[in-house]
Amino acid sequence: MQGLRISPGLLPPECERLRAEVRAFLADALAEVPRAQRVRNWSGSDPEFTRKMAQRGWIGMTWPRRYGGHERSSLERYVVLEEMLAAGAPVGAHWVADRQSGPLLMRFSPDVLAPRIVPQIVRGEAFFCIGMSEPDSGSDLASIRTRAVRTSDGWLINGRKVWTSRAHRAHYMIVLVRTGERGEDRHAGLSQLLLPMQTPGITVRPIVNQLGDHDFNEVTLDDVLVPHDHLIGAEGEGWRQVGTELAFERSGPERYLSSTQLLLEMLDAADADDPRHAVALGRVVAHYATMRQMSLGVAGMLARGENPALAAALVKDQGALVEQAMPDLAHDLFGDTVEPGSPLEQAMRYTTLAAPSFSLRGGTREILRGIIAKGLDLR
Ligand SMILES: Cc1cc2nc3c(=O)[nH]c(=O)nc-3n(C[C@H](O)[C@H](O)[C@H](O)COP(=O)(O)OP(=O)(O)OC[C@H]3O[C@@H](n4cnc5c(N)ncnc54)[C@H](O)[C@@H]3O)c2cc1C
Repeated sequence: MQGLRISPGLLPPECERLRAEVRAFLADALAEVPRAQRVRNWSGSDPEFTRKMAQRGWIGMTWPRRYGGHERSSLERYVVLEEMLAAGAPVGAHWVADRQSGPLLMRFSPDVLAPRIVPQIVRGEAFFCIGMSEPDSGSDLASIRTRAVRTSDGWLINGRKVWTSRAHRAHYMIVLVRTGERGEDRHAGLSQLLLPMQTPGITVRPIVNQLGDHDFNEVTLDDVLVPHDHLIGAEGEGWRQVGTELAFERSGPERYLSSTQLLLEMLDAADADDPRHAVALGRVVAHYATMRQMSLGVAGMLARGENPALAAALVKDQGALVEQAMPDLAHDLFGDTVEPGSPLEQAMRYTTLAAPSFSLRGGTREILRGIIAKGLDLR
């Protein structure tokens, strides 16, 4: 049995010094941002804010200097991320690139694509979207139908991607395509390509979510041609590479810190003399403290170069449970008294509509539990 051990994380003193620096930066940078806007958390995006973070050296923090990175520790990066999320900073523009696209390029195209693209990410100038899901392939990515054919001029891509978050604002997509036949191994024949979003043949159509926001899209690819060297890693290795990418995607503190504004509003509105408030909010805060220890444990695993896939699946699954319970709790505690239009009411409204997606995006609850069960040799 592989077993599961997540050592509680401890932060060294340099992290606490950095935390003070980040808090001072946020107090200034977010001074004019109303509380109701902070509820969007990492779904909110502001390229100007991203550039300010880049100037501070807080994008590509752990990456090698040869790509423009800052060679700081994973734990220092963790502190920056958790402070950004706790404050509801609009970090969405660079989030995907910093979390997974940059690391993927450095690992699988270290000499060709990474030297060209990664410095742009570090400067806060290149935003990425994830081209995995398709209309009939979400959890079962092995069944994707978007196809790329090697021609003398480059890779010719045809197909359709869906639920592509921020494709309308991204400079690049990392697209999962079929380049060969499946054969007996249904995971064979997949590859990843770098797709500049201004390439002819790409059409991005908005899909408005139940909040009324335009966040994700349908992206159709009609005879889209990219150069041969836009292949990331090896042809046919897409399945293994996507596994690596998803481990990055699931390992961060955003998987339990998406709804911090609602928690802060509830704490603000709580009546210290009401035992119902004390018990219910005390329990949530205890859950947060536990999630934080587990999440820091995952950051520690990344720092030690260990594979955090199993632990990250557990943190994401449990984090979604904690966050999805919060809107009901808020309605139970404050539903009768909340003032219409107040920051608490706006946070309740937003989080009630946003929370169902927390156990879908980045892998559904059932898929994560399958990974956990497999990792524990339970299936
Ligand atoms: C807010 C948001 C943002 C997203 N952004 C992106 C993005 O940027 N890029 C991108 O590529 N995708 C994105 N997605 C898509 C997301 O990854 C998929 O929705 C998710 O993987 C599920 O795929 P699906 O919607 O096709 O559902 P399906 O895979 O059809 O699943 C439907 C239901 O069946 C269950 N199920 C499926 N297979 C199994 C199984 N083997 N065992 C048990 N139960 C199973 C699922 O858990 C789910 O409950 C986003 C989704 C959301 C909600």
